[in-house]
Amino acid sequence: MAIRAIRQLVRAFEVTEGAGVTVHRTIGTPALRNLDPFLMLDHFGSNDPDEYIAGFPPHPHRGFITFTYMLDGHMEHQDSMGNRGDLRSGGAQWMKAASGVIHSEMPKQTDGLMRGFQLWINLPAAQKMSDPAYQEFSPEAIPEVRQGPVRVRLLSGRYAGQRGVIEDPNTDMHYLDVTLEPGAEFALPLAGDYAAFVYVYEGGASSGGSELPQHSLAVLGAGDEIAVAAGPQGARFICVAGKPIGEAVVQHGPFVMNTRAEIELAFREYQSGQLVKKKAAMTGG
Ligand code: FE
Repeated sequence: MAIRAIRQLVRAFEVTEGAGVTVHRTIGTPALRNLDPFLMLDHFGSNDPDEYIAGFPPHPHRGFITFTYMLDGHMEHQDSMGNRGDLRSGGAQWMKAASGVIHSEMPKQTDGLMRGFQLWINLPAAQKMSDPAYQEFSPEAIPEVRQGPVRVRLLSGRYAGQRGVIEDPNTDMHYLDVTLEPGAEFALPLAGDYAAFVYVYEGGASSGGSELPQHSLAVLGAGDEIAVAAGPQGARFICVAGKPIGEAVVQHGPFVMNTRAEIELAFREYQSGQLVKKKAAMTGG
């Protein structure tokens, strides 16, 4: 198998989002505008119990999916579909904004800690104005695969004969949260045309002899297998991959469409209270 080498290393860009929340952004920055089909990756967190976390008060989205994975702490969620959720540590939330959703996301600490990821996944043009949908998964619903020094929480995709809980048929997304003991090795066979990246959030790792520094995103190049080895302190990382959509991306803030005119329409509709077209029920496990 040809191992996918690191094609680009993207250092996180610190941005202030919502009401005073600091996030480390890698995809969706000048260094990496997007990585088709992925539009944005934010790593948010706080380990200061006194830090004021105001969260993300009501804001709109249209044209894509937001996928949130909580590592520590929890996140209270409310949206224009009528859903109310409380995403716990180790749980995940998949929200297809599609034609339009207005929601609030309010992260809270547990024992002084709050950490997680939000990934934006694009939708093909034919589905951008489809009905929104929402799924929330408890930590217990997410399959965990343990093979000696390798532990994988399988949020989406296939690994070691198992399937993750979140299905994205457009991109066949793989989303794995991997914990490696010191020196352990992780491998994932993957079709050559899939976009793929690794983001190390704890410890240190390497791939094909190149370092994967903490809080940097490694875009992986061509090949048919992802291979990551942990350093002497072990490593925790997310490994994400998906089939590119291959369409024009016109992004403005919370709206991601295919043309400028569609973005202008989204702004006009939001300003006149017409953004939300459809309510939907909450499902999930
Ligand atoms: Fe949001």
